[in-house]
Amino acid sequence: MHTNNLPLSGTMEADWISLFDSVPESTRNALRKVVDEHCEDMAVAFYARMMGDVDARPFLTHDAVEKRLRHSMQRWLSTLFSCADRDQFAAAMAMQRHVGEVHARVELPVNIVARGARVLKGEIAHRLLQGGLDGEALVDAVLYADNLIDIAFEEMSSAYVASHERAARIDEAYRVFSYGQNMSLERERQRAALLDWENRFLQEMMAGAAGDELQTLGDSSFGLWLHHKATAIFEGSSELPAIRLAIHSVDDNLLPLCAGQLENGEREETRRLIKAVQAELGQLKFLVGAMFERFVDLESGKDALTQLLNRRFLPAILSRETEISRNQGKPFALLLVDVDHFKHINDRHGHEAGDRVLQQMASLLLNTVRSGDFLFRYGGEEFLVLLVEVDEAHARRVAEKIRSRVEQESFLLADGRSLRVTTSIGLAMHDGHPDYQRLVNRADDALYRAKHDGRNRVVIATE
Ligand code: GH3
Ligand code: MG
Ligand code: MG
Repeated sequence: MHTNNLPLSGTMEADWISLFDSVPESTRNALRKVVDEHCEDMAVAFYARMMGDVDARPFLTHDAVEKRLRHSMQRWLSTLFSCADRDQFAAAMAMQRHVGEVHARVELPVNIVARGARVLKGEIAHRLLQGGLDGEALVDAVLYADNLIDIAFEEMSSAYVASHERAARIDEAYRVFSYGQNMSLERERQRAALLDWENRFLQEMMAGAAGDELQTLGDSSFGLWLHHKATAIFEGSSELPAIRLAIHSVDDNLLPLCAGQLENGEREETRRLIKAVQAELGQLKFLVGAMFERFVDLESGKDALTQLLNRRFLPAILSRETEISRNQGKPFALLLVDVDHFKHINDRHGHEAGDRVLQQMASLLLNTVRSGDFLFRYGGEEFLVLLVEVDEAHARRVAEKIRSRVEQESFLLADGRSLRVTTSIGLAMHDGHPDYQRLVNRADDALYRAKHDGRNRVVIATE
């Protein structure tokens, strides 16, 4: 199948065309016939296999399999194997992208899709072996089927990844939005909401309200906030599961007992139950407080001593800058700046004096780079500077400026005396390599050489 305007080599379409051309039409037709004839029993066998798979099973409830998935699997197979021109192939690939997006939405792990592809390949090979092909035609047909499913899987995966990244960005944007919320106000509101619930609970227990009037914590204003908002904001915090467990213990274990007690109460038992609920609430309040506190510390992203960015954010920022640089073709640079003989400063003038030097270093750096650059406290007396959109000559000038400014600066001690300090700097230019850790390692090697060559100097990473 040769047409005038051939697609770029290396594209999915070009791969498909060469695959298509590599197999005689008679073999392709025989394969298509086998798939058409057996697509129903292959779909049945496929789902039977996947339903027996512990990882895949939760995604394939029986009902949905019966109603929709089996049918769409049949359609998927016959569409894929009936492609005979570029338009049909393009339509089949659009279908793969759609499937990939659906998988991303339902958060189907990609390894399960890969497993499904492997199962399908096995099913098709099995049917082919029982069909009329033999010799070279059989080998051709099996390879063709395998490759076609791989192509489909590739297209599905690329849509899956794009969709996942988009969702992650939206999540991130939501989290950033929530940082903007007044977190201390939010914390007070949730503390008050818990207290409200507790008062109401106590009143109802004392007044001997009807058992079904007891409101669960899950239905309370606190419960709704936790379920809908906290889950997004505090995702991944270790307190969240413990908080959910405490709510579950109150709502599903204690409250039903309390309700029973209200029906035919006994003072001692009522008192015991109220105490048990209050103990859970005490635990809850502690957990919620701890969750907010940790959030403020971590998410502010600032190093407490220097107010520079925390090293924790380095991977996120470096991978973003790597992506921007790849898309726009503008290089960036990393400088690792390490104070020389810092241990002596601590030894001679005390740890506090050392701290002041670090703070003064941070403000010197801040005044030397542009506002678009990033400054991290990388280690104890080590700073990492990310210079965006610079060439090597520019980066070298900035590094040299930092080195000489530090050398000329008087670092003030608490007692009014001052101190001279020098720094060694390792400079690495981003060279397009996608793994940012490699860039950090190159800057680190350059820094090591700067120390080795006598300190108070800038060394540029080679290769
Ligand atoms: P070099 O020139 O080879 O870099 O020598 P150095 O003494 O600067 O390097 P080394 O890594 O041996 O020592 C770093 C010291 O920095 C050790 C540690 O006690 C001190 N340090 C780390 N973090 C802090 C901090 O937050 N405050 C203070 N005052 N000292 C710190
Ligand atoms: Mg040092
Ligand atoms: Mg060091």
